[in-house]
Order: sequence, then structure tokens, then C-alpha cells
Amino acid sequence: MGVVTAYIFAAVGRSAAFHKVTTTIDHRGVGSIRDGVPAPVPDTNPVANLISSADLRWSFGGKSQRGWLIYAPLVSHMLRTSDAVGTNGFSRAVGRWQEARALRKTGVIDSETWFSIIGALQSARVKDRSHPSNDDLVEAPPSELYDPERPAALRRVEKGTYAAYKRMLTGAMKDRSLGLRVTRAGALDPSEKYLKIVSAFRTRDYQDQLRKASPHSGSAGLAVNSPHFTGRALDLYVGGEPVNTSDSNRLLQTRTSVYRWLVKNAGKFGFHPYFYEPWHWEYVR
Ligand SMILES: [Zn+2]
Repeated sequence: MGVVTAYIFAAVGRSAAFHKVTTTIDHRGVGSIRDGVPAPVPDTNPVANLISSADLRWSFGGKSQRGWLIYAPLVSHMLRTSDAVGTNGFSRAVGRWQEARALRKTGVIDSETWFSIIGALQSARVKDRSHPSNDDLVEAPPSELYDPERPAALRRVEKGTYAAYKRMLTGAMKDRSLGLRVTRAGALDPSEKYLKIVSAFRTRDYQDQLRKASPHSGSAGLAVNSPHFTGRALDLYVGGEPVNTSDSNRLLQTRTSVYRWLVKNAGKFGFHPYFYEPWHWEYVR
């Protein structure tokens, strides 16, 4: 017997909010949700996924991590389910993932399953670290930058990546549900921040400066061998503080409609996410 309390981010229809959920685990390990969200069909798995999402202990980039709530939209996309964490439908999707990878089929995201999901996400990233020549780079206009004052040398993007970014932007602007402010000419309005480029191509020297400026960022934050060196990594504005890795900031970012749109659609334009940084997208096609 035991009582477990978790704060769960649940989406109901178009609204989403945190719910305090108290779960009583009886001697058979069967949980029932008393308040917060509607009680699911009695089953250990949905409750176990809620607890895991808030509490799973793991480590990444030399930092200890807790839960995977931040990554829930990405996880749902990977598992090909629209069922919320904590439902039987989500548990079944976890079970399908486990079965396909010959993992123990529990329907619950445990450490083993979690690392297989992260592994799949990481393996889709840019592997080639070749540096672009000056001819491979184009300069994005200041109006497309989150900070229009950013110097020209820091507005450069690899050519193919830039073209793909523009196609993706057009797709996002067409989706009225995102409510992006667009000029008559069909560009992002100067007052619009979402999807503007925060950072793109970086030289090794510039990355070294960034690392010196924030020595505690860890390897998950500012990589020694950054994909930004290729010119094919873009940091895009997805809400909150543009590139702040605090859990609260990243949780906020992964709940914005723009981030969720990227999760669903960026792949069609050749962009893959870096799961840990909601703003960081890599052009891999
Ligand atoms: Zn980045």
C-alpha cells in the first residue's frame, strides 16, 4: 500500500493544464486515480506511465534527470499515438514499441524503454561533421532572426538547410491554427518571434567562446563537436527563453503549439529534433 502524488500535464481537448494526481497503490500494485484526471480503466500500466513520466531517474550529458514529461509530445510522436500519457491507449503504444524492439513488453516506459526511445531519437541526428565552405553558406536576412541585430557572420546557414527552413516556414504560416503573424508579402511579421532563427552556423571559435561564457552548461547543452559547425543545425524560437535548458523553460516550450507543430511536421521538410533542446533542429536530408 502506498500513496503516490504526481503532477501531471494532461491535455483535454484543446486545453491543457497541470493536474495534481493522487494514486493509491494497493497490495496487488493496482492504482486508481482519485482526483485530477478521469479514472482510467483499472490497469497498472496507465498509472505506472504517469508515475514514470514524473519520476523516472536517468542521466544525460553528465546531469541527473527526472521523468520525461518535458518530452511527452516527442515520445507520443515516436510511439505514433495521440492518446495522452496515463491512458490505456498510450500503454498499448508503449507495448507496441517494446514488442518491435524485443524489449520486455510491459506497456510502461521503464529505463530500458526510455533509453531505446532516446537512442532512436539520437540516431536520426546529423552525423556528418564536415564544415561547409563559404560557398555552401547563405546569409539569412536580419528580419528572419530572433535578434535582428545579430551580426552577419552569425546569420549564416548552409544553403540546402536554409531552403528547407523557408519551405517549413511557409508550411507553418499556412497553418492558421498556429496564429503566426505574417506580412502581406508572406514573410514572418517583425513582431512575430516564433520560428525565427536564434542561432545557425557557428565557427569553432565562436562555440569555444559560448562554452567559456557558460562553463556549467554540460555536454548536453554546448557540445564540443557541435552540429552547428555544419551549418545544418538551426535553433528556432519555440517560446519561453530561447535557449534556456532549465526544466521549467523546456516544459513550457514543449507545450507551445509551434513546438508541437514542429514535432509533427518538421520531418516532412527534412528536419529532425534534438530531444533535449526543444529549439534545436537539424537538417538531415
Ligand atoms: Zn542548437
